[in-house]
Amino acid sequence: MTDKYDIEVKLLAVTPDAEKLIETAGRLCWDTQDKTGTVPDRIQKWLEVGHESMIEHACATFYIRASRVLTHELVRHRLASYSQRSQRYVKETEPRYIEPPPIKDNESAHKQFEEVMTICWQVYGDLLARGIKAEIARYVLPNACETQIICTWNFREIRHIIKLRASKRALPEFRAVAEEMRKIVKEMAPQIFADL
Ligand SMILES: Cc1cc2nc3c(=O)[nH]c(=O)nc-3n(C[C@H](O)[C@H](O)[C@H](O)COP(=O)(O)OP(=O)(O)OC[C@H]3O[C@@H](n4cnc5c(N)ncnc54)[C@H](O)[C@@H]3O)c2cc1C
Repeated sequence: MTDKYDIEVKLLAVTPDAEKLIETAGRLCWDTQDKTGTVPDRIQKWLEVGHESMIEHACATFYIRASRVLTHELVRHRLASYSQRSQRYVKETEPRYIEPPPIKDNESAHKQFEEVMTICWQVYGDLLARGIKAEIARYVLPNACETQIICTWNFREIRHIIKLRASKRALPEFRAVAEEMRKIVKEMAPQIFADL
């Protein structure tokens, strides 16, 4: 459970020795490789002046469990590679969904939400039982349906996503995901993400 949204964000992989690789690329531009490791905030200073291309050399891969509302927005970030659980090839037999806190915390709204979820999955099951394929039956599943996605982004895109999606203007569920990503990357590569 994260920020009351029942979502999950895990780091699966990252470019080895990412900070050193990025500093090496940045220092190549200025022919100052001999100073590698001597200025702790060197990369942050480059980022401050908009010299950002060198941070594209490192990537991280995340596992995210969230709603399809969330992933619909997530995959708008194009500088990426995505692999998402399929609703065509995988039957969503279990009613798994993300209930937003404003609904969960309101007794009557929560009751009505649960009723609708139950109906959606009942009809989904009925359609499958009639021999209708999962790729068609899924039309009755809600936006709230839980999904899983693996995403790979370079560090520049990760900074961009966190800036846009941890903001107060972003969808609250996306904010919860972006906040988790922020915690992870600040620990993983502080020289690149310290200012976020
Ligand atoms: C608060 C909020 C509200 C939103 N509301 C809506 C909405 O109502 N409807 C809607 O459709 N979308 C909406 N969006 C999505 C938004 O328009 C973007 O599609 C999404 O945030 C992806 O961001 P991006 O395009 O900056 O970046 P990415 O795809 O992550 O790309 C990163 C950067 O690369 C550059 N780039 C990538 N592709 C191109 C390109 N083809 N040409 C030029 N530069 C490129 C840009 O500088 C871009 O910022 C919303 C987003 C936010 C954060």
